[in-house]
Amino acid sequence: MDNSWGLSTISVHSGEKNYQGSLTTPLFQTSTYLLSPTAYQAIEEGRPREEYVYTRWGNQNQLSVAEKVARLEGAEDGLVFSSGMAAISSLLLALLRRGDHLLTTKDLYGGTYSFITEELPQRGIEIGFTDQTDPQRVEEAIKPNTRVILFESVSNPLLKLTSLPEVGQVAKRKGISLVVDNTFSTPINLRPLEWGADIVLHSCTKYLNGHSDLVAGALVGKGEILNEVWKVMVRLGGCLDPHACFLLERGMKTLALRVERQNQSGLGVAKFLEGHSAVEKVIYPGLSSYPQRRLADRLLSGFGGMVTFQVKGGDEAALKVMSKLRIIKEATSLGGVESLISMPTNTSHHLLSSEEKAELGIDPGFLRLSVGIEDLDDLIGDLNSALR
Ligand code: PLP
Repeated sequence: MDNSWGLSTISVHSGEKNYQGSLTTPLFQTSTYLLSPTAYQAIEEGRPREEYVYTRWGNQNQLSVAEKVARLEGAEDGLVFSSGMAAISSLLLALLRRGDHLLTTKDLYGGTYSFITEELPQRGIEIGFTDQTDPQRVEEAIKPNTRVILFESVSNPLLKLTSLPEVGQVAKRKGISLVVDNTFSTPINLRPLEWGADIVLHSCTKYLNGHSDLVAGALVGKGEILNEVWKVMVRLGGCLDPHACFLLERGMKTLALRVERQNQSGLGVAKFLEGHSAVEKVIYPGLSSYPQRRLADRLLSGFGGMVTFQVKGGDEAALKVMSKLRIIKEATSLGGVESLISMPTNTSHHLLSSEEKAELGIDPGFLRLSVGIEDLDDLIGDLNSALR
């Protein structure tokens, strides 16, 4: 691969191996491989990641697609998993030991919050919460036993930006691993490794695949860290099936195109909603009302396809609006070619108490819209008639 390639070229070509002259990566739908002297030797020498032995350990389709994600993020190594949660859980269990402290925020995807608060304390791992938008508060919350800091680049669902340059510098100074979930931004809009992150994670279920037809996760970063995570992945079993890798690799070829379109339509929809009398509030990094506007301009090369807005009249009115939409579908998940809408309070964030939701700013009537690649006029027309 040429290091000067742009993100569209990387989306299409990186990870290509041209097996037996093939243009695209063929499907290696096999659970195991014929054992060879080099495979036996790799097992004996403790480096089975370098040979194909068994698909839970490694497979050609996993290798190609992991390389594509790694190159897009500017990382030296990558691993793919059976879901975003398999990536998060394998990573945290690999990096944290009994007595360690994980620093994070409550402004996170609900599944990540639930794994952290339900599973990690049982293993003797301490959890601390801070405000990822304020580097001083992040620094103050660091303890002598803090080993990992985990934030989302753009948070789910409130679209708050992590103050990456400063938080990256603090983590580096203190020798703490900074993990950034870049699912919402995608490497097309933001590459956290360039701003001091050590590991980037993705729910590839969302934008990277982009077609709402598979569940997958990825981690990218330094090889020495990922070799340790690989061991945990092999023990826990969260590898990605070859067929899902094949589909993910195909989906990712259009990543840059899709995200560029979603950036344009996201802004168009956000501006429309901001001017609508039935809407109380709109959160979108590209609006002048966005509280972290200057940081958004500095970090983001596109403002994304996620728009969070609050309908006047609370949850009841918001539920009614969703039920009246025809093109935009009422479904959880995001990042696909289809526009999807859901209410975080009864889906992704249902585990948070009312007090926790209020503390974060998830107020009644909040809806999370994932803008797809349909015509912008059709999306605006659909929202307009539902709001009316
Ligand atoms: N991270 C973020 C930001 C998410 O939104 C999600 C799922 O919605 C996940 C991680 C978990 O990914 P998966 O559903 O692929 O396990």
